[in-house]
Amino acid sequence: CGIVGIVGSQPVSERLVDALKRLEYRGYDSAGVATINGGELQRRRAEGKLLNLEARLREEPLAGTIGIAHTRWATHGAPTECNAHPHFTDGVAVVHNGIIENFAELKADLASAGAEFQTETDTEVVAQLLASFRREGMGRREAMHAMLKRVSGAYALAVLFEDDPSTIMAARNGPPLAIGHGEGEMFLGSDAIALAPFTNEITYLVDGDWAVIGRTGVHIFDIDGNPVTRPSQISTAAA
Ligand code: GLU
Repeated sequence: CGIVGIVGSQPVSERLVDALKRLEYRGYDSAGVATINGGELQRRRAEGKLLNLEARLREEPLAGTIGIAHTRWATHGAPTECNAHPHFTDGVAVVHNGIIENFAELKADLASAGAEFQTETDTEVVAQLLASFRREGMGRREAMHAMLKRVSGAYALAVLFEDDPSTIMAARNGPPLAIGHGEGEMFLGSDAIALAPFTNEITYLVDGDWAVIGRTGVHIFDIDGNPVTRPSQISTAAA
């Protein structure tokens, strides 16, 4: 299972899938990619191998210079296309590795407030929570912070908001997440190996961190919302 993201200046979907291939060694049962194209979230997903996702993308290419992608190892919900990430709820896209331990309780609360769930995954509560906080009038960062305060469990997360086509938000609590610094482009990945073709300048998030990644840099916060500084280092992973 793995996550990649690119806040780019060039088209991203092929590069995202190439980076996912470098995470295949972790195992997975389905995969997907989402971009923002012309102000709209779009996605392609497929069961099984990345070859299937590539075939989907050949039939229906995905434009866009910002995107997130995922290989899933199902823990909650069968490995179907419907349960494959990215999950979309009302202008929010989410990919997740790990398990949201309190998803059942959150799902019951959200459903009783009118949320309509589309998948059997634990992950969808993240997208539904973010969407509900936005509907309540919260800004993107505020919603991200409020969501992180509600979920418990292990996660690496990457989030796109349709109304901000220049930012990826990410969070880590358990599974590793690396941020890659490029030339006018920024990258996100489960490890430095995934990002090696793009950059070797890497900042690792620490458990409890969340990040706002733009084309020219990253702002990192702790779980209380305080800005934190994490060192960048030069990775020796081979491209
Ligand atoms: N728990 C999530 C799911 O089953 C994420 C699994 C993963 O780490 O890929 O969809």
